[in-house]
Amino acid sequence: MAEQAQQKTIAINGAGPVGALLAVMLAKKGYQVDLFESRPDSRKTNIYQGKSINLALSDRGWKALNAVGLDEEIRQQAIPMFCRVMHDVDGKITKQPYGKEDQAIWSVSRAGINEQLIDLAEKESTVNIHFGHRLTQLNFDDNTAVYINDNHHQKIHQSDLVFGADGAFSKVRRLMQELPKERISYSLDYMQQSYMELSIPANEDGSHKLEKNALHIWPRKNFMLIALPNVDGSFTCTLFMNHDGELSFSSLDNKQKVNEFFQKYFSDAMVYLDNPVEDFLSKAPSPLCLVHIYPWLVNDSVALIGDAAHAMVPFYGQGMNCGFEDCRVLAEFVNEHNHQWPDVLEAYQQERKANGDAIIELAKRNFVEMSDLSGDENFLLRKKIEAQFHQMYPQLWVPLYTMVTFSPDIPYKKALALGDIQKEIMDEIMQIPNIEQEWQQAHVYQKLQQLTQDKLTANPLEISL
Ligand SMILES: Cc1cc2nc3c(=O)[nH]c(=O)nc-3n(C[C@H](O)[C@H](O)[C@H](O)COP(=O)(O)OP(=O)(O)OC[C@H]3O[C@@H](n4cnc5c(N)ncnc54)[C@H](O)[C@@H]3O)c2cc1C
Repeated sequence: MAEQAQQKTIAINGAGPVGALLAVMLAKKGYQVDLFESRPDSRKTNIYQGKSINLALSDRGWKALNAVGLDEEIRQQAIPMFCRVMHDVDGKITKQPYGKEDQAIWSVSRAGINEQLIDLAEKESTVNIHFGHRLTQLNFDDNTAVYINDNHHQKIHQSDLVFGADGAFSKVRRLMQELPKERISYSLDYMQQSYMELSIPANEDGSHKLEKNALHIWPRKNFMLIALPNVDGSFTCTLFMNHDGELSFSSLDNKQKVNEFFQKYFSDAMVYLDNPVEDFLSKAPSPLCLVHIYPWLVNDSVALIGDAAHAMVPFYGQGMNCGFEDCRVLAEFVNEHNHQWPDVLEAYQQERKANGDAIIELAKRNFVEMSDLSGDENFLLRKKIEAQFHQMYPQLWVPLYTMVTFSPDIPYKKALALGDIQKEIMDEIMQIPNIEQEWQQAHVYQKLQQLTQDKLTANPLEISL
């Protein structure tokens, strides 16, 4: 096995979280890996200094990190968020647990996790990392790539296998699309919403100004503000709203309008935010987009992975988690197919494309849940009924959020299909007269059990948990 591995050389383009993790995993299988990154080494240049941008890591991500032994080290600097805390427009607060008592999503520093993965890749004797090398060309006949380095010099590198882990605007993907004979289907859709990062600083003693172990949401239907905690006591906040239109990033174009907007919709958050009006006016909003592409492979030797293959909106907190899962699954196929790369890559594409599409769809739908429904009484009641039913019949009903976030053995495509059936069932349950008063009564759960058994056994997808 090691002999087969040593014969192959692998180039990975992009040392973001996914490219760095992939490099570690493939080196551990015995491969010689060259990891190319267009940016300078952030550990030396402090390009992230002063920025506390964070991400939610959940069980799919943890499972992949566990496979390379990095989970415990990352957990030391991560903050568990056990619930959503919703702040309504009058400042009233409601809480909604994410799962069972001990289930949490974890706030981690984006730069921190990336640098920890790069540290780990560097420890592998068969990984060479080339910072400041931007991929500009790729000859798909022999996998010869051209890079421009920071000194504007050209570097040519040839390898047996090439991965595009170069993010939502992937160069590898764009070069694939230019191939005349490959018949590549592709779409990049911009969402109506863009986003902007704002911040809540720590108290003077370094403590958090809001409940620390929670993801805070200020849902306002067409827009929302969220906040995730950082270990230094601050929160990174993200404002999601329409890019253009009546109330949008474009329409809020002067100090008075921005001030009125924050006072009207986020008056309780204003107390904590760090100069939100000036901050807002000094920044440009960033776009959100969805990417679909097929195939993910060319010539059985060039493949896309992570955001390059399936960029999604951040409303399920799954982009990086999904990319990490891509790496874990690919590494498992390397063993399963005994290092036969055409088989490994075909199996990888087959398995991950459908799951990538499913989480793109789920993430898109979740904007409505976060920005609108999470403040809605009816919706919160549905969640309570589902949680209770899950507790009573854990084999029969796993809430959709739990399937996506805390159940790494349930593929995203199955979660999506089951979630659609659950929605139909819950629509019927919510029609029970006086459900607001009746929801804890046995007859509600008897009906739920009956409907679930009927719909799931009648379903041709042969879904069973
Ligand atoms: C606002 C926001 C919030 C998010 N929140 C979450 C969350 O809570 N949980 C979660 O799981 N995900 C979240 N995501 C998604 C997550 O950030 C991405 O899915 C993840 O970063 C993808 O990792 P990647 O390594 O595939 O791509 P990237 O992180 O984009 O890394 C790609 C790397 O490739 C390099 N590169 C690009 N072009 C070239 C080139 N030509 N040559 C060489 N190198 C190149 C780039 O410099 C970069 O380092 C969020 C995204 C956004 C925008």
